[in-house]
This record gives sequence, C-alpha cells and structure tokens, in this order.
Amino acid sequence: MNLNSKVTLFSVVLATVMIAVLIVVSLVSFRQFSLLSAQAQVSSAAEIVRVSLTEDMINGVISKREGLLRRLGEVPGLQSVHVIRGGHVEKQFGPGFDRERAADDAEIGVLRSGMPFFEVLDESSNPVFRGTIPFVATSKGTPNCLQCHNVPEGTVLGAVTVKMEIGHLKSSAVFVSTVMVGSVAFFMLLMLFFFRRLVKPVISTANDVQTVVSDAIQGNFHAGIKQTTNDEIGRIAADMNKLMQFLHDGLGGIRNDVMQLLKHKPTEEQGNLLNSTIDMVHGLIDASQFKQSIEEDESKSEIYQRLSLAVRERFGIKHFSIYEVVSNRNQMTPIIVDGEAGADCRWCDPQILVRSETCRARRTGHVIDSAETPGICFAFCPPAGEQEYRHICLPIIQSGSVGSILQLVFTADEAARIEELLPYLSVYLREAAPVIEAKRLMDTLRESNLRDAMTGLHNRRFLEEYIETLVAASQRRNSQVAIMMLDLDYFKVVNDTYGHDAGDTVLKALTKVMVQSVRASDIVIRYGGEEFMIILPDTGGEQAQAVAEKIRLAVEALKIQLPGTMLSKTISIGLAVFPVDCDTFWQAIKFADVALYRAKDSGRNRVVRFTPDLWTDEGVSY
Ligand code: GH3
Ligand code: MG
Ligand code: MG
Repeated sequence: MNLNSKVTLFSVVLATVMIAVLIVVSLVSFRQFSLLSAQAQVSSAAEIVRVSLTEDMINGVISKREGLLRRLGEVPGLQSVHVIRGGHVEKQFGPGFDRERAADDAEIGVLRSGMPFFEVLDESSNPVFRGTIPFVATSKGTPNCLQCHNVPEGTVLGAVTVKMEIGHLKSSAVFVSTVMVGSVAFFMLLMLFFFRRLVKPVISTANDVQTVVSDAIQGNFHAGIKQTTNDEIGRIAADMNKLMQFLHDGLGGIRNDVMQLLKHKPTEEQGNLLNSTIDMVHGLIDASQFKQSIEEDESKSEIYQRLSLAVRERFGIKHFSIYEVVSNRNQMTPIIVDGEAGADCRWCDPQILVRSETCRARRTGHVIDSAETPGICFAFCPPAGEQEYRHICLPIIQSGSVGSILQLVFTADEAARIEELLPYLSVYLREAAPVIEAKRLMDTLRESNLRDAMTGLHNRRFLEEYIETLVAASQRRNSQVAIMMLDLDYFKVVNDTYGHDAGDTVLKALTKVMVQSVRASDIVIRYGGEEFMIILPDTGGEQAQAVAEKIRLAVEALKIQLPGTMLSKTISIGLAVFPVDCDTFWQAIKFADVALYRAKDSGRNRVVRFTPDLWTDEGVSY
C-alpha cells in the first residue's frame, strides 16, 4: 500500500470513528437530557397537582378536584394526570373516587416506598414519559400537612401519575444530533481536504524520491524531482536534484574515462550501468595490480606464467595458449599451451611455428574471433573430437608489431562470457605488452653480450655465467662433463697470406663444422681469437675423444673456398674430463688447455687426452 492510500485510509477511518463516536455520545447525551427534562416537567406537574389539591382542601372544594385533573390532562404535552389516594387518607377521609386507586404495581410501589418512579413507555413510535410522584406528609411546609392529616411525619398520603408525550423531545434530539454530526462531518471533510492538500507534496516528493532512487540503483541519474513547495519538502527535492546531478556528472565522468581506458561500452542489456562501471573500475584496478606484479618479475617467462595464472584464475578460462613471435625470424614459439608451459602446439597447425604469417592474428595484428566469424583462421585446427571449440586470438602488440599472441579456446556455451571478458583481458595484455617487450630487449641485450658477434657462438662471459649451473647440474646427476680446447694449426699464416677477411671465413667455416659435429645439448664457445672450447655434458673421456677425433677429421677434410683459392686447415684438440681428471671445473679447463699444448707440441692435427703426467706442481711438464 503506498503512502497516498495509507493517508487516505487513515483519514477516512479517523473521520468515520470520530463521527460514530459523536453520534453515539450526542444521542446518549440527548436521551439523558430529555429524560431529566421530562422528569423535571413531570415533577413540576405533580407539584402543581399537590398545591392545587391542598388549596382545594383548604377552600373546602376538594370534592371538585376531578375538573382540575381533567383540565390538567388537557394541557398540551400532558397525556394524563392520575391521582392516587394513599391508605392513611382513605382511612381518615374515605376511599374517594374509584379512579384514585393504585392502578399498577409501580403506583403501589411508590405508595409503599415513598420514592418517585419514572419510566418511558412506547419508546418506538410515540414515546410517553410516565412519572409517579408520592405526596409525603410534612409539618415543615405551608400549610402544615399534619394539621389536617392525622398521620406521622413522612407518611405517604398519596401520589400522582403524570404521563407526558416526549416525542417532540426525541425529534429535536435527532434533529440537533443530525445538525451536529453533519457539521462535524462537514468540518472533517474540510479538514481531510486541507490535510490531503498539505500532505500531497510530501507524497508526490516521496514517490519521486522513490523513482529517482530506484533509477539511481539502476545506474541512471537523469531523473529529477519536481519541487512544488518552498518548505522542508521543497528543500529535500532541491537537494536530491543536486545530489543526482552531482552523481550524474561525477559517475558519468568516471564511466566515460573507464570506458575509454577499457575501449569498451557496456550495453543496457548488460544490466545495471552503475554495477558495470564498478566492474570496469575493479577490472582496471586488477590490471594495474597485475602490471605492478609483472614489473617486478625477473624474467619474461615469469611474466608469461603470471599472465597464464590471471587468464586461468581471474578470468576462469581453461583452454588458452600463449605464442611468442621470434624476433627477426618468421617463427613462433608456443610458450604456454592450455596453461602448460613449454607444451607442443595443440590447437593450431604447427606450420605457424615455422611460417608465422600463417597465423592470422600474427599477420594482421587484429583480434581474430571465430565466434564472430566462423572459420576465420585456417591455421586453427582443433584436435579430433574437439571440433566444437571456437577461438579468439588476441595479439599482444610490442613496438608496433605483434610480439606475442594469446589464444583463447572455448565452447559455444562459454562464448558470451568470454566476449564480456575480452575488454578486461585486453587491458591485461596492454599492460603486459611493454613489460614483456622490456624484458625481451633485456634478454636480447644480455644474449648479445654472451655471444660472439662474428660466429654467433657463446663467448667466454657466457662460460663464466653458465659454469655454476653446469657444475651443479652435473653434480646433481653425478655425471661427467668433457671439456675440449681447440686451436687451429698455423692460423696466423692464413691471415698473413690471404688477409684478415680470409681468416674470418676460415673461423666461420670451422664454427659450422664444430656445431654440426656435436649434440644440441653440447656448448660450443669461442674462447679466444681462434681458440674454441666445447663443453659436452654427460660425456665420459672415451666418448669425448671420439667426438674430438670426428671434429679433427672433419676439419682436416674441410675445403674452404677463398677468393682465388681453396684452403685446407688442421686443428689440435686437448681434452679433459670433469671430475675424473680434476677437482674443479676451472681446473678441467686448464688441463684441457695443457693437453692442447701437448697436441701442438707433439706435431699438431691431433687429439690429446689429459693425463696427470702432463701437469706437475710447477706447471706444464714439458
Ligand atoms: P699454432 O696455433 O699452430 O701454434 O699457430 P698459430 O699461427 O695458429 O698461432 P696462434 O694460435 O698463436 O695464432 C693466433 C692468431 O690468430 C693471431 C691472430 O692473427 C689470429 N686471430 C685471432 N683472432 C682472429 C680473428 O678474429 N680473425 C682473424 N682473421 N684472425 C684472428
Ligand atoms: Mg691460438
Ligand atoms: Mg693456432
């Protein structure tokens, strides 16, 4: 029930109750008043009868009393007057007329008790008031009753019954009550009218406030309240309008800013705009916290891990992959596939890894959404039995080109939810992009510091950084690490004869031979000018010796094309095995170098395995 109905109901009930009470009170009061008034009139008539009878007695014409009583009965309003002779009077003066005997129990009662009796007769149509008043002998009045009557003081001499029509009293009571109730009802209606007029602005303002507040809860602050008065209610309306304007401007501004940041406009269908704005702000705060976290991450892979965690936990997406575009190469590497680091490409044709332009997101730099355009990317090849999956590929733009790609894979049921998450996810990617790029640049820089520019092989600095990890790993596996030191024989002559560029060509050719002759897990290092080192993890002496021999033979067989000539070179190789030949890794390097010296010393183009006899406390033993 609204306020208006409540006020109306309250007023009507109040007015009805008041009028009912008034009717009851006025009718009861008038009845009481009428009875008292009739009682007084009957008593007066009785007194007149008594006085007249007394006078008749004094004047000796009491026998003519009949005429008096008849005339009294003719007085308008008086219906009848009936005198009753009491027992003592009968005894003293005789029985009197027949009509003067007690006619009913009430009259007998009055003669006996000396108390007056009143009643209303025939109340419905023409009401009559009857009163029977006793005449009591007293010596105090004038004349003294006891002078004529031989009775003691207080004896009931007789009584008179007067019947009086009181219909006119009843009509006037009804008339006065009606006028009174009518007037009160009229004033009540008047009061109700003014009360409603007074309350109307309160009700309409309350209704407007309700509308405005419920609109505001829906995120709409446009609604205003009509100000109809200048009192407190009017001020509430004015202040409410100011508040709404303030919220509209303030929150509207925030919403616009947030929409711009998210590049996303929530639609009406998405429900409450205020809630969607709050969601957007939370999304931005989460993204900002995410950025702070990744800025403090140590490496690019940690950032990818954190991004993966956010996609899975924050966005609740189960199937997703992150691919990284290999700089300056037409290749991509799967970093995370279905949340698993370093897994194989699962949802795409593996050719995207070697021909990255086959990946549509990589090629165009646009969001590729198969939920929007089915079959948009031909490289998307879900595994057998999972054809119902769709994908959205979000390129992560770094320095104007696609650096990485986040691929989301989902079913049709999840499509709507994923579409809603996209703007938030895009903010995460936008935040992550520069941080990933910075880490990538740092990695590249670090990598370039750890590599030799001419051959592309790792350099000595790399060895210094890597050695600790290598030793720890080999000790953990309880395995041996073979170390080869290699030096071209009479290389100086090449420079001297054919020039420095020819020397470089030889070094590059040698690099190729070495890299091709060892496993991918072996590490070839340019140790000095034309000195190289090869580290062979998990390799014993015999095995390493065979590899060294293979390299030596390959170099020997190598024909190097120089401008105008074909060149052949040989190489000397020293070999030591850690921890078989030595206690420390650096000592193994030293011993491999010692063995290399022995190879040179003993005629070059050979492989020498370190033996303890090559090393004395004073140094090399030859
Ligand atoms: P051997 O080792 O057989 O005793 O004789 P060698 O002539 O090879 O002597 P050594 O190993 O001392 O030669 C070092 C030469 O390698 C000196 C330098 O001219 C040359 N060299 C070092 N680095 C480079 C380089 O980057 N490019 C070229 N072209 N030559 C280099
Ligand atoms: Mg040398
Ligand atoms: Mg040399």
